[in-house]
Amino acid sequence: MSITKTEAEPRSGPPAWRLLLGYVRPHRWSLFTGALLALATGATGLLLPLVARGLIDDLEHDRPITRALLGMSGLVVANAAVGALGSYVLRRTAESVVLGARRALSSYLLRLRISAVDRTEPGDLMARVTSDTTLLREVTTDSLVGFGTGGLTLLATVVMMGLVDAVLLGVTLAVILLAGTVLGVIVPRINRASRQAQDAVGAMGASLERVLGALRTVKASGAEHREEEGVHAAAEESWRQSVRAARWSAAAGNTAGLAMQIAFITVLAVGGARVATGAVDVGTLVAFLLYVFYLMSPIQQVVGAITQYQTGAAALSRIQEALRLPAEPSTRPAPLPSPGAQPAALAFQDVRFRYADDLPYVHHGVTFAVPAQGMTAFVGPSGAGKTTVFSLIERFYDPEAGTITLDGRDVTEWELSALRAAIGYVEQDAPVLSGSLRDNLLLGNPEADGAELEGVLKTTRLDGLVERLPRGPDTLVGHRGTKLSGGERQRVAIARALLRRPRLLLLDEATSQLDAVNEAALRDTVADVARSTTVLVVAHRLSTVTMADRIVVMDAGRVRAVGTHRELVAADPLYAELAATQFLATAG
Ligand code: ADP
Ligand code: MG
Repeated sequence: MSITKTEAEPRSGPPAWRLLLGYVRPHRWSLFTGALLALATGATGLLLPLVARGLIDDLEHDRPITRALLGMSGLVVANAAVGALGSYVLRRTAESVVLGARRALSSYLLRLRISAVDRTEPGDLMARVTSDTTLLREVTTDSLVGFGTGGLTLLATVVMMGLVDAVLLGVTLAVILLAGTVLGVIVPRINRASRQAQDAVGAMGASLERVLGALRTVKASGAEHREEEGVHAAAEESWRQSVRAARWSAAAGNTAGLAMQIAFITVLAVGGARVATGAVDVGTLVAFLLYVFYLMSPIQQVVGAITQYQTGAAALSRIQEALRLPAEPSTRPAPLPSPGAQPAALAFQDVRFRYADDLPYVHHGVTFAVPAQGMTAFVGPSGAGKTTVFSLIERFYDPEAGTITLDGRDVTEWELSALRAAIGYVEQDAPVLSGSLRDNLLLGNPEADGAELEGVLKTTRLDGLVERLPRGPDTLVGHRGTKLSGGERQRVAIARALLRRPRLLLLDEATSQLDAVNEAALRDTVADVARSTTVLVVAHRLSTVTMADRIVVMDAGRVRAVGTHRELVAADPLYAELAATQFLATAG
């Protein structure tokens, strides 16, 4: 599955291992230590056949074997202790690699451009942070370290074998080479299946998110069963692909195992013949056979490393795709305007914009100017492009042509955090985040003091709600908390924006769900705010619109007219009609 819904994703870029090395680099020393310990484990194990040869020698020559036995026991204990320490250090390092990847990826996702978010499935992105990063754990330990230590142990074992008997080594290597050829065919299949399995996990996240995000509507539509099928289908696809990967991995593992058995038998046959001709003694053959036996583990390790890496590489490529989505530059948080800061002036000049190259234009040359201070209302049929005006001011998107200036300066020249610090924005259908009511209110200004908070609670008429809530402002709201009504949510969103002391306040249908009493109160608050701040409102209620200093009438991506209510009723038929048909008075 491609990460974006519409664009063909670029598969190029640096290879997966380069990304992995980036995550591993900060932990290279502990990884190195862990690898050394693992090597030491291998090395102590490697001495055992030599001790065994000595033991057999002692037996043959009727010498006491206590020393050899003691040596063997000591080696075994040391082997276990070093082995345990080594695997702890490695696992810890691997977890740190996962942590690093999760931090990097989640920071990146939070900086994604809204245009990128529009075209991705949040559930799939989430799976990349939660599930794909987890796979880096095994890649770090089993693949990187496994390949390193297994490879070195393998090399050392082969050298030892060569020292014991070169002919038998030749026989062993021939068998191993044969197995290697078979593995070359199997390994790419593991990679493909793993990639598809991880994509399916992403798809499962996406379909779960689709259902859980709209569960009330799904239930009300009686669509649980059909929606369930979508989630199950993704889960089953992941199963199918994982099983396919497991099949190939098992084939790879057992090819290696089989090769070793064949090597063992061949060595036994050839070695037996060499013992019979007197070319080697029994002790040498036994030692060599023990080495063949010992070869098993590093070979399994190397093969395991290669097969495991295929899963990891699939995960890495999914992480890499997410890191290739367009993101905003990371900027330091900017200070909020100080109390009494100057209101901001805003202007659109011939702004042309569309949400994507394959979508129609939403703004066909929008031009208007809003002086510092006062209230400007945006009206027009839905789909006219009003919300888009606000999105462009916040730089969630950038226009294709034309300019937007704040205080006479192009918004693209502002540092992004400074631009957004100047603005208070209540989006259409503003959400309440899970957490306490206080968290929600202070989201945009955690430093606001108690008096400020209290003042805003009063002006947004939330003080009554706070009194009713069981734990006051510390009551949990949103997910896993008290659900707020639509009107309450809107007032929380307005309070949140006001606490930022914005120089420009954007209200997008921010009072549409308020009852008449609360709406009238909020209208007074907004009028009050507009004396010291520039306020832009998208509104449908006539009462709000008539109060504005100027009204911008938008239709189909163009500004039709600008004026006061009185002027527009006389001059603009669309506005006159909207006003006359009570559309403005009733629509939410
Ligand atoms: P209004 O707020 O005036 O009702 P909008 O500015 O929300 O209108 O939308 C204007 C047009 O842009 C609509 O046709 C809408 O479908 C389209 N649109 C809005 N948001 C997006 C988006 N994120 N991606 C693609 N098209 C969008
Ligand atoms: Mg809108």
